[in-house]
Amino acid sequence: MHTNTQPPPGERLAGCAALAAAVEPGLEGASAALSAALAADPRTSAVVLALVGSDGGTAPAASIEEAIGRLGVQAVRALTIALDLCASECRSSLETRRWSRPLAQAFAARALCRQLGVGVPVEAFTVGLVQGFGPAALTRWKFPARLVQAVTPPGRERDFDPDEDESVDLARILGQASLLADSLCGDPSRSGIDWARASSGLESMREILELDRAAFATLFERIGREWSEWQGRLGLAVLPVPTMDEVHRRAGAIPADDEVVRALEAGSTATLKGLRILAVDDEPTSLKLLERALRKAGHETITAVNGSEALRIALETHPHAVIADWMMPEMDGIDLCKALRRSELGRSVFFLLLTGRGEEERIVEAFDAGVDDYVTKPFNPKVLLARLKGGQRVIELQERVEANRRVVLKQVAEMGLLTRKLRNAAHTDALTELPNRRHAIGRLEAEWESADSASRPLSAILIDIDHFKKVNDTYGHDVGDFVLREVAIVLRANTRQGEEAARLGGEEFFVTCSNTTEAQALVAAERLRAAIARHVITGMGFQGSVTISVGVAQRMPGMASHDTLIKAADHAVYAAKAEGRNRVVAASAASPVSKSA
Ligand code: GH3
Ligand code: MG
Ligand code: MG
Repeated sequence: MHTNTQPPPGERLAGCAALAAAVEPGLEGASAALSAALAADPRTSAVVLALVGSDGGTAPAASIEEAIGRLGVQAVRALTIALDLCASECRSSLETRRWSRPLAQAFAARALCRQLGVGVPVEAFTVGLVQGFGPAALTRWKFPARLVQAVTPPGRERDFDPDEDESVDLARILGQASLLADSLCGDPSRSGIDWARASSGLESMREILELDRAAFATLFERIGREWSEWQGRLGLAVLPVPTMDEVHRRAGAIPADDEVVRALEAGSTATLKGLRILAVDDEPTSLKLLERALRKAGHETITAVNGSEALRIALETHPHAVIADWMMPEMDGIDLCKALRRSELGRSVFFLLLTGRGEEERIVEAFDAGVDDYVTKPFNPKVLLARLKGGQRVIELQERVEANRRVVLKQVAEMGLLTRKLRNAAHTDALTELPNRRHAIGRLEAEWESADSASRPLSAILIDIDHFKKVNDTYGHDVGDFVLREVAIVLRANTRQGEEAARLGGEEFFVTCSNTTEAQALVAAERLRAAIARHVITGMGFQGSVTISVGVAQRMPGMASHDTLIKAADHAVYAAKAEGRNRVVAASAASPVSKSA
């Protein structure tokens, strides 16, 4: 990005960015220092607040303090540096176009983050904006390590387990965002962009996001609108926003169906290669004539003397076209055509029927059977070849559509796998492979809503391992991890339909029980408690069992949200601890105990 000898612009951190960079993110008072830095620069503050406000459905932050409260010091600090770099350079430099693309990438990354439900949108925005400065600059500005990682090209430095690192998600999102940014600011003359690839990449992205064409186009336009609005806000020249259709067209890849229609209408003059043609006729002379005419025109010709032989050969040799006589013994031309149309292979083959004089009146019947065109016998070779030429165009377009579809499917397969991994990683606890807190809360929220509308009971079980610290202290952390995994296995094995166990973190687990009353959940909780208590954990020098304290709560009419339900279950856990551990307590029966008990 920066090839001249001058220091790259971002290296002379301007105004507020310099102040923000001086804030030590980890230290006490960082939040106040950052607020002070921003207070000294109202212009950048306004930009930061507006951007935080536009981040998802939340209301705009009223103050920098509130923004910090919502996003954390790290995130606001990084965003401040990125935005101030961009904004102040846009004010001072004529070369403002340089920021158009990073800005597009920032909005694209943020939108993808939200759409996939992965990562932190504001972080994606920030790295999208400053990715071009590279990992070294981000490190100097003390950006969080995962953001630095995300902009580090794959290689030795990024040699980590891809499923365990959020920065991989972010790097992938940046990759996809880059494609969107190219498409938004696209300049077809720009070297290094493979437009056809970009177009099929967008098509794959659409599949990954599981959006139909219209919804994807809407998402694209929304990103474009945000980008456009912010170019204006930052004083950049506002570039026109293309539509998704325009992007595809620029790539020369008009969506397949339109292309076929247009090419047919325009009467494509493309010179076509020789075809593999199956010629079928029971009259030897007629067949010879046909074969000779086709060979002379440069086509590879295979022959058959009746319909059933032709069907077998067609399925073996996959011809581009079949030219068949109507009247034949055993299986006539119409039946052959019908049989072919029933097979996957024969559905797209070009079928030309040879008809006798008397048969012309019945030609509708032939078209109903799936025939593409017909020529009357005795045929004039020139007419036959002309008709074939019409068919050839269809054949070639079909082949191109098919090839195009295969490329897209392949990309989707590769990236679909990637997204699935990405989604799973975002919802799975790395240690125990149980669903994680994010998943558990999401599930509970969803259950809360559906219980709301269906007025079904909903209960929650909260589990805490007893004296787990002792395991760590006595056997070491690794054995502690091993015990956590074992507990997870037992919990998973002992949950039933409608119950989903998750690890909330530490030695705490959670079970959502849909359509379950407190009384029923108590039975489930007791089943889990007993299973854990009787399970002997053996391995890594550990032999013995652990016990759990369990709190059970049911959603009650007065409860404001799922949080209240979790708190009620948590309260019951503390009651269970207070009563001697290794037991199940219902929230409805828990005597008031304080957390410090
Ligand atoms: P109580 O019966 O009151 O729950 O006692 P406790 O020792 O289980 O509770 P406490 O909350 O004091 O300790 C929990 C311990 O769990 C402390 C922490 O070191 C350990 N822990 C949390 N997460 C992990 C982890 O991922 N692996 C390991 N090995 N230990 C963990
Ligand atoms: Mg605990
Ligand atoms: Mg514990």
